Amino acid sequence: MAKGFLLVLSGPSGSGKGTISKALLDKRDDIVYSVSATTRKPRDGEINGENYFFMSEDEFRIMADEGGFLEHAFVHSNYYGTPKDFVFKQIEKGEIVFLEIDVQGALQIKKNYKEAVFIFLLPPTMDELRSRIIKRGTETDEDIKRRFSNAFKELDFVGEYDFFVVNDKVENAVADIEAIIHSEKLRVKRHNDIKKLVTMQGGTVNVK
Ligand code: 5GP
Repeated sequence: MAKGFLLVLSGPSGSGKGTISKALLDKRDDIVYSVSATTRKPRDGEINGENYFFMSEDEFRIMADEGGFLEHAFVHSNYYGTPKDFVFKQIEKGEIVFLEIDVQGALQIKKNYKEAVFIFLLPPTMDELRSRIIKRGTETDEDIKRRFSNAFKELDFVGEYDFFVVNDKVENAVADIEAIIHSEKLRVKRHNDIKKLVTMQGGTVNVK
């Protein structure tokens, strides 16, 4: 069986990470979404355990102290973290585990878990990015300014990632990510049993 792997998607606020993630997950059944924990207040329509595990700062701190996070970071004045157990259990089962996290978190994972695949999502232009943040209408003026200025800082880190995808159209961006997944699934190092597969007389090499 092929090993599962971690797929990390980052990109500035307004790059469309949420939309792309949803479209990708709706389309594929070989990808599981890692639900993050956060101290941010839920937005209208957000569901605990589905969009995030919403928690208090105390609860978050205890979980961090107990080593419960694969990574965690302070982003736009709130804490966010990836629960560790879920990720490793799913990878063990051969799943592709999808994380939608900020640059600081991605860099922590890169240090400790080199086999992950890192994708940076870019907006088509910075003007488009600003109007997407404003259009969303869920943030205060101060929040919008903070997210926009953080976006510039985050863009500097694109060089740390393996791939970039431009979100000009959702279908195109999803197709690009699927192409990356397709190649990653064919990496020899993700197949412990590749020798057995290719030397099997008359056997079928079936890489799922
Ligand atoms: P939002 O508040 O808009 O849902 O997310 C704000 C930022 O936090 C986004 O850049 C998002 O990718 C990031 N984020 C969400 N979950 C995590 C996480 O578990 N860890 C880290 N480091 N960032 C996260």
